[in-house]
Amino acid sequence: MTVAELVRELREKRRERERPKDPEEPSAHWPGTDRVGHDVMTSYTVILRTRGCRLASGSGCTVCGYPFEGTGGVGAREVRRQLETALADAPDESLYLKLFTSGSLLDEWELPVDAQRAVVEALRSDGRVARLSIETLPGFVTEETLSRIDGPYELEVATGLETSSDAVRQLCLNKALTFEDYAGAVEAARGFGADVKTYVLLKPPFLPEPTALRDAVRSGIDAFDAGSESVSLNLCNVQRGTLVEHLHRRGEYRPPWLWTAHEAVRRIKRYAGDRLVISDPVASGKKRGPRNCGECDDSAARALERFSLEQEPSILDGADCSCKTEWEQRLLLEEHTHHPNPLTSIDG
Ligand SMILES: [Zn+2]
Repeated sequence: MTVAELVRELREKRRERERPKDPEEPSAHWPGTDRVGHDVMTSYTVILRTRGCRLASGSGCTVCGYPFEGTGGVGAREVRRQLETALADAPDESLYLKLFTSGSLLDEWELPVDAQRAVVEALRSDGRVARLSIETLPGFVTEETLSRIDGPYELEVATGLETSSDAVRQLCLNKALTFEDYAGAVEAARGFGADVKTYVLLKPPFLPEPTALRDAVRSGIDAFDAGSESVSLNLCNVQRGTLVEHLHRRGEYRPPWLWTAHEAVRRIKRYAGDRLVISDPVASGKKRGPRNCGECDDSAARALERFSLEQEPSILDGADCSCKTEWEQRLLLEEHTHHPNPLTSIDG
C-alpha cells in the first residue's frame, strides 16, 4: 500500500464518524493580536466552511485533519451568512482579518467565483478590515485570481510551503506541490503588490528531530530568499484521521519539542533580520501537541507567542528548564551516527 492510499483509507474511516456540517455556519472565528511590520494589530481569524481542500479530494496530506471541516453546497449566499455570523463578534476597530478555508480561498473548485466576490463585497461594506490575509495553495495565485479578492485593504497571501525540500514534501507529507510552484506564486503575489506569508512545518512524520530542525531552518531561509515577507513556523500536532495519528498511536511519532521550535525560530530569525518570524504553538503541552517535559511547556509556549509579537530573540534565551539538557542529549544521540551536530552545523 502506498502512503497516498493509506492516507485516503484512514480519512474515509474517520469520515464515517463525522456529522454533516451546516453550510451557513463558519468553522470557527476568534480575536487575537498579531505583529504586522513594526506594529501590533488587532486581528480576527475566520475559518470559512467550504467543500474543503482540493488536494484532500484526491489523497491529501499526511498531517492534515481539516478535510472533516468541509461541507457541500457553499455558494455566495452561504458564504455571506458565514461572514455575517463571524464578523458579528469581531472587535469594533481596524482589523487584520485572517480569512481561511482550511483549503484555498482562491480555488474556484472549492469556492465559486461569485462566492469569492461575495466575500469582497461583505468586507467592503463592513469597513473594518485594514488588512486581509487569505490562505491558498501556491498554484492558485495569479494576477487574475488576486484581482478578484482585491479591495480597500492591504492584501496578504498566506501559503503552505511546509518545506523547501520537494523530496520531504512528497515523501513525508504527500503534498502535491513543488518549490518552483511556490516561488512562482511569491513572484505573482509580489507583482500584484500583496505581501506573502509562508507556512513552514516543523517535524513532518518520518523525520527524526534533528533532521526536522535542519529542514525547518533551511525552509525558512529558502522562503525568505524567494521573497516571502514573513515566515510562520507551524509546529506539527496530531490531527484526527491522519497518517500522523496512525503513527502516533503506534508510538512512531512524537510531536516536536518546544525547544526544537525555539531553536528553529532563533536560527530563522537570525537570517531574517527585520522580516517577521512567527510561531503559534497550537495544542502545546498536550499529548497530541508540541511539548517539552510537562513542567515548562506553558512557559516555553508563552515565550514563542511573545517572541512572535515582539521579534526579540532574548525572549527565547530567557526560557529554560532542566529538561533542556535532556533535549540536547536526545538531539545529539539521534544525530550521532548520521549527521554533524545539528546545533552547530546549520547555515544562517
Ligand atoms: Zn522542561
